[in-house]
Formats: sequence, structure tokens, C-alpha cells
Amino acid sequence: MTPEQFRQHGHEVVDWIADYWARVGSLPVRSTVAPGDVRAALPTAPPERGEPFADVLGDLDRVVVPGLTHWQHPGFFGYFPANTSGPSVLGDLVSAGLGVQGMSWVTSPAATELEQHVLDWFAELLGLPQSFRSSGTGGGIVQDSSSGANLVALLAALHRASGGATVRRGVEPERATVYVSAETHSSMEKAVRIAGLGSDAVRIVEVDGDLAMNPVALAARMERDVARGYTPVLVCATVGTTSTTAVDPLAAIGPICQKHGAWLHVDAAYAGVSAIVPELRGLQDGVDWADSYTTDAHKWLLTGFDATLFWVADRAALTGALAILPEYLRNAATDAGTVVDFRDWQVPLGRRFRALKLWFVLRWYGAEGLRAHIRGSVALAQELAAWAGADERFDVLRPHPLSLVCLTPRWPSGVDADVATMTLLERLNDGGEVFLTHTTVGGRAVLRVAVGAPTTTRAHVERVWTLLCEGHDWLAADFAAQAAE
Ligand code: PLP
Repeated sequence: MTPEQFRQHGHEVVDWIADYWARVGSLPVRSTVAPGDVRAALPTAPPERGEPFADVLGDLDRVVVPGLTHWQHPGFFGYFPANTSGPSVLGDLVSAGLGVQGMSWVTSPAATELEQHVLDWFAELLGLPQSFRSSGTGGGIVQDSSSGANLVALLAALHRASGGATVRRGVEPERATVYVSAETHSSMEKAVRIAGLGSDAVRIVEVDGDLAMNPVALAARMERDVARGYTPVLVCATVGTTSTTAVDPLAAIGPICQKHGAWLHVDAAYAGVSAIVPELRGLQDGVDWADSYTTDAHKWLLTGFDATLFWVADRAALTGALAILPEYLRNAATDAGTVVDFRDWQVPLGRRFRALKLWFVLRWYGAEGLRAHIRGSVALAQELAAWAGADERFDVLRPHPLSLVCLTPRWPSGVDADVATMTLLERLNDGGEVFLTHTTVGGRAVLRVAVGAPTTTRAHVERVWTLLCEGHDWLAADFAAQAAE
């Protein structure tokens, strides 16, 4: 493809995306294809000769779009949002067009330095500790995901716990312990497995009535483990758990970690970006205790996947765990020790220029625009919670500090509540106007309504509420009719 052909087809692709965004609200949110449908629409043999670009674009509409669940749909209330935006896509496009590898400073100095700078900006905007800034002992990096961030945090913690000896010996896997709660994201247990510790290393700390980690229980477990000769390596505290956005009390957990020399990793994958709004920052009180912190701009901050913002207070622990310098990567800047080589802060060697999209997003919206987006989602979610709280058909799980509302429908006695709740969920999702997901709390099925797509307005939240109420009434009447038979 020549530059001129690229210009022509590039314009077509941008038009296609703009048209997609303009019409996404009219499509069914959840894909209706059956397993195998997408593959059945594709030729069995790969193309032997090049094809006209128009045919490729045509197949986007014919094959791909029907097989999509539309995460940018204004009726998307499932999981957590996965925002994208114009400036994010354009930043990614430039990154793809430049095609640079930012593994070492020398391989593209702008890739490293822009990333350091943008991460310092975000540390300031989120009110994160000074220790996370690149001017101190720490620093930030864009990781591919919070799952990846959780893994590198654990590797750094293991390195520190071994007195810097992971390179030669490592921590004895049978002696290392990692503390989570039952509400911690599963990626932390996956990280434990990848690190070779085995699931026996995981200590599941009790939670309180709000599903937040109980610091008294944490302290007791750590004391017990230390008395038995274990090494507490890392505590993963979550700000905004995946199921219900529970917040583990950092201010109470921090001193316990410090007492036992354990690394405090804060997983704020979804909720962390909300700290850009000063009045929401109180949720993260005690973040100064953190050794590392992760939050995803690719969930709720108008930036497309992948854009995990990850910071460490002591970058030497991270690079100590991950740096290897083979001859073929040697260069004068690295040897002089005057630059940061981000390959030593992550698992892969190669890395895309992801800071570009963050830079574009931040400059397009400004901090003010990002705050307005977060505030808008929170306000809509709080309104929904108020409507549901005043309605006898639903119980609202408390607390709901951000933009996720968890609802438990009430059903007539004699009805299997979980079956009824899941039937209501399927009915709503089959309707195509909205998409919700569920979780369980205390063993009971709960509906999650996560507000945060940039296109979602008050009218869409009113609509999901109406559909919930209508669906509830219809099912309750159906159950009553069945009981009467
Ligand atoms: N941690 C928490 C608390 C999450 O809620 C999630 C995803 O929802 C993750 C980690 C994993 O995020 P990622 O997809 O960035 O790996």
C-alpha cells in the first residue's frame, strides 16, 4: 500500500468508524450470533492474492459487526465500561503509523520520555504520592492491563522480600505468602501462579459487611504466618472491587504491611481514575502507604484498551526483578545509567507507544473534561440508586460510591430468587436495548449496572430503570400465574 493509497483508505476507515459511532446506539448491544457463526461466514482458505480494500471494509459490516457486543453503546451497562474516544483512537493510529518499539530509551527516546511525563501528570492529577513521581525513587509506566500490573508488582515484591536475591535464588516458594480478600480480582491469584508460588501461598482475608478487607483479620493472619516461619510478601488491597466496588481501607492496611515488611499493592483498576475528581479522592485515603498502584485509563477514562497506569514507589525493586541486559541491547545511554529503559519494568521486551493516546486524550479533554466525564457517570449512577432505593421491587447494595449500582430484585415468596434474577437479566439482554451483567453477593445473584460509556445519558439510565421495572413486573406476574395453575 503506497502512502497515497493509505491516505485514501485511511480516510475511508475513519469515515467507517465515525459512522459506526453515529449508529452504534441503534444496534442490539449484545451480539446475537451463535458459536461458529462468525467463522462460518469466512472463507476456509486464506486469500492467495490481494483483495480490493472495499471488500475488506464490506466484510467488516457483513462478518464482524454482527459478531460484536457493542461496548461503546449507550445502553452498555455490563462489567465495567471500556471507554474509547476520538483522541484515543487517533493517538493509537499515530502510534501504529510510527511503528516504533519503545523497549529501551535509545530505541525511541520520545516514547520513553513522553510516557514518563504523562504518567507524572496523571500521578499529580490523581493525587498520588510524591514517591511515585519519576523525579523521586519511583515512577510510572503504561502496562498492558491491570492483570499485567498485578503480576509485575508481585515480582517486584518477591525481589524485595528476597533481599534482592531473586536473580540467583528467589524466595522459597513454600515460605512466601500473599494476602488478598475473596473480592480481590482473580488476576492476583493468576499472578501468584505465574510467579511459581502455587495457590497455597494465597491467604484469603475476611471481609466486613461492606465487602472490604478486614484489617484486623489481615493483621491476625500475618502474625500467625510470621510466627510459623512464613514470609508475607505482598498484600493486594483493592479500591473498587470488580463485583461491587468495595474499597479496602488503605490507611489501616498500610501500617500492617509496613510492620511485616510486606509490599502493599493497590489494585484500583476501575475506580482509581475517579481520583481525578477531588471530592472522590477520599476513597483512596492512605494511598501514601502503597508500594505500587494500578488503574486503567482503558476502563473509565476515555482511553481505548490498553492503557493501564502503573506506578511504583521504588523503581529499583521492579527493575531488580526484571532487568536483564543481553549484549544485543547494550547501548551507551543504558550503560551510563542516565535513562529509563521500560523493558525492565514489564514482562515483554517490545512495547507500543501507548503514551500517545493518553497524551492526545488528556490534551483534547483537559483534566476538566475528564473530571466532567467521571462526575457525570457517578451522578447518573447515584440517581439510579436513588430510584431503586425508593422502590419496593429492588434492594440496593450499599455502599455504591462510584458509578456501579448493584441491585437485588425482590421476588414473591416461593420463587427461586436467583433463577428469577437471572431470568430477568437474560430478558433484558435479549431485548437488545441494554446490556447488564451479574455477580453474587453472599451467595445470591445480584444485577450490576455499571454506568460509564461516554454516550450514556440520563435518558439511557431512565430507560434501563424502566426496563428493569417492567421486566420485574412481567416476571412476577408470570410466577404468580404459574403458582395459581
Ligand atoms: N483488577 C480489578 C479490580 C478489576 O476490576 C479488573 C477488571 O475488571 C482487573 C484487575 C483486570 O483488568 P485488566 O483487564 O486491565 O487486566
